[in-house]
Amino acid sequence: MSNKHYSFIKGVEDYFDKAAAATNLPEGLLAQIKACNAIYKMQFPVKIGKEYQVIEAYRVQHSQHRLPTKGGIRYAPNVNQDEVMALASLMSFKCAIVDVPFGGAKGGVKINPRDYTVGQLQKITRRYAAELVKKNFIGPGLDVPAPDYGTGSREMAWILDTYLAFGKGEIDAVGCVTGKPVKLNGIRGRTEATGRGVFYALKEAMSIKEDMKALGLEPGTEGKTMVIQGMGNVGSYTGTISQDEGGFKIIGVAEYEGSIHNEKGIDVHALLKHRKKTGSILDFPGAKNLKTREAALELKCDVLVPAALEHQIHGGNAKNIKAKIIAEAANGPVTPDAEAILLKKGIVVIPDMYINAGGVTVSYFEWLKNLSHMRFGRMEKRFDQQTYENIVGLVEKTTGQKVGAKERAMITRGADEIDLVRSGLQETMITAYHGIREILKKNKKVDDLRSAAFVNSIEKIASDYISLGIFP
Ligand code: GLU
Repeated sequence: MSNKHYSFIKGVEDYFDKAAAATNLPEGLLAQIKACNAIYKMQFPVKIGKEYQVIEAYRVQHSQHRLPTKGGIRYAPNVNQDEVMALASLMSFKCAIVDVPFGGAKGGVKINPRDYTVGQLQKITRRYAAELVKKNFIGPGLDVPAPDYGTGSREMAWILDTYLAFGKGEIDAVGCVTGKPVKLNGIRGRTEATGRGVFYALKEAMSIKEDMKALGLEPGTEGKTMVIQGMGNVGSYTGTISQDEGGFKIIGVAEYEGSIHNEKGIDVHALLKHRKKTGSILDFPGAKNLKTREAALELKCDVLVPAALEHQIHGGNAKNIKAKIIAEAANGPVTPDAEAILLKKGIVVIPDMYINAGGVTVSYFEWLKNLSHMRFGRMEKRFDQQTYENIVGLVEKTTGQKVGAKERAMITRGADEIDLVRSGLQETMITAYHGIREILKKNKKVDDLRSAAFVNSIEKIASDYISLGIFP
C-alpha cells in the first residue's frame, strides 16, 4: 500500500480515537476536543508581474479552549484544507503536552515560494495578513502565527508590520506573531528551537537505562548513529546540535535532490556549506550517493529523524525501516498503517506532538517577552553575577586558593536571554517526556508513546473544558 491517498486529518483522527478509548471521558467531550472550531478559507488576488493571480489560503483554529490559538503558517504548493486542519489539531495537542497555554491553529498558503521573487512573496504575505486582520484571525490575545515549512522570520516581520499598520496603539501588538527577527521583538534561540528541542528530547529518552536496554542500546547519545530526512530549519539544527552536543554520528541524510550515506559520519556543518555552494547534498566528499532520496530512510541506524513533510513513512516502506527509534521532527511523518508495522517490529516512535514542540515552546517565551516588554535576564543578570563573585571570593578567602580567570568567568556568569531560553526549553522537554512516559507505564490500555501523548493532552484539554463549566 502506498501513501498516496491517506487523508492527513483522517490519520490524526484515527490516532485520536485509538487514544480516546483509553480515557474515561464522556463521548461528547471527546468529540468537542477532536473537532476543528473554526476554518477560514480565503481566496484573494495578488498582482504578479502583469497578471493577477488568485491565491488560495487558510487559517484553521482547531481549539479555542485557550486563547490565543497558536501555530505556524506553511507555504507549499500542496496546501489544502485537510492538511491545515490536521496540522492545527496537532498544535492543540502539542501545546497541551508541553504546558504552553494556547489552543492550536495553523495557516497555509497554497504557493511554491520558489516560484516568486522576494517582492512578490512580500505582497502575498502582507495580503494574507490583512485578510487575517479583517476577520479577527490574528492578534496577541486571539491567534498568533509563527513560521512553518516555507516561511521564516522574514515573513513574520512582514506580518507584524502589516498588523501594526492596522493597529491603533494596542500596547501588546508585537505579540501578534512569533518567530520574528530578534531585532524586531523576536527572541534569541527561536530559530534553532525545534531542532534543539528534538535533541533535548532524544537526550532525555535515551538516558533511561531500562528503555534503552529493551532496544538493545546502551544509555546515552554519544556515538549513536542518526539518519536525517530534510535539511531545512528543523533537520539542520537537529543535525548540528545532535552532533556537537550529543556526540551523535550522522550517517545518512536525505533531501529533495537525493540522499547520501557515510558509515563513518557526515559532518553536518560541512554538508550545509557544501549544499549552499553546489545546491545539492549529493557528491559530498567521503559519502556515497544513494539511488533514491527515500533510500536513506531504510538505512540501519539507532535514530531516524524524518524532518521534512508528512506521510514519508507509509504502508509501502515501513517494513524496510531498520532504525530503533524514530524521532518525528516533522508533523505527521508516519501514517497510522505504517505505525502499526513499526510498533510490531519493536521500533519506538517518539511522536511529533511531543518531540517537535520546541518551536512552539520558545514561541511562548517570545510571546511572554513581548507582553512583558523586556528581554529575559535584564533584571537579574548582574545581580546573579555579583552574588556568584561574592561566593567565589569567600571560597578563595577560606581556602587560601585562587580560582583561575577562565573558571571564575564560567562560575560567575549571570544568565542571558539565550541561556534562559535553552534552560526553559530543556526543562519543558524533560518534564513533558516523563508526563507521557508515566501514562505509558500506568495506563494498561496504552501501549505506545503516541497514544500516551494523546491521552496526556486529551486529559489536559478536557480538564480545561470542565473547569470552564462545560461538560461538568
Ligand atoms: N510551526 C511550528 C510547529 O509546527 C511552530 C508553531 C509556533 O511556534 O507557534 O509547531
